Amino acid sequence: MAEFAAASGAGQKAGVALAATGLILTVAMPGTGALTATANSNQVASAVGTQPEIPAAASATIDFSRAAVSTTADPDSKLKQLLSAQSVGTIKQSSSKGTLGAPLDTLVTASPFGYRVNPITGGLGEFHRGQDFVAQCGTQVHAAAAGKVTFAGWHPYGGGNRIVVDHGNGLETTYNHLSSFSVQVGQTVSRGDVIALSGTTGASTGCHLHFEVMVNGDVVDPLGWL
Ligand SMILES: [Zn+2]
Repeated sequence: MAEFAAASGAGQKAGVALAATGLILTVAMPGTGALTATANSNQVASAVGTQPEIPAAASATIDFSRAAVSTTADPDSKLKQLLSAQSVGTIKQSSSKGTLGAPLDTLVTASPFGYRVNPITGGLGEFHRGQDFVAQCGTQVHAAAAGKVTFAGWHPYGGGNRIVVDHGNGLETTYNHLSSFSVQVGQTVSRGDVIALSGTTGASTGCHLHFEVMVNGDVVDPLGWL
């Protein structure tokens, strides 16, 4: 009995000490909860024997460190590893999902990627090459990942003022119908940089952002990467 109490007392101290660092708050809580609730050594013993609590708390700790440690959470590194590990054309959506950052602070889909009725001509079966996001004219547009601006100008096929960012290894993103540019061709951008303000230039029925993801020159569904 005395051994159990001593052991769990030490465990509690360790838990509290680590909780103070902010690293494993969830691990410390079940232990302190059990101990303060009961001075009864039988129940302390049973709390110590409750193994299933520990794996659950351990996984919560992993989630926490994933969000907190910038080296492992760095999305540009993840993207770079993904692109270097395999040909960009063979990357599955399960691994590409989340590697690109949002081009707007708030993403609300106005019109999805894929076949749709043309909003201007009313024609059926038009292939929509990107994802339209709701954006008032003048909304800040962010680079979806680190890269180099390879185009910033007028797109003659409907994109209006358009920016293309090359992320390397065959991956590009494009930003269309912009009202103004904040970058120039040849400029290197970081993920999240403001590269333009949204608009309604080109073939557009109103203010919004038409965002494209291109893999080896072919458009793919941006939602597979965001
Ligand atoms: Zn569009």
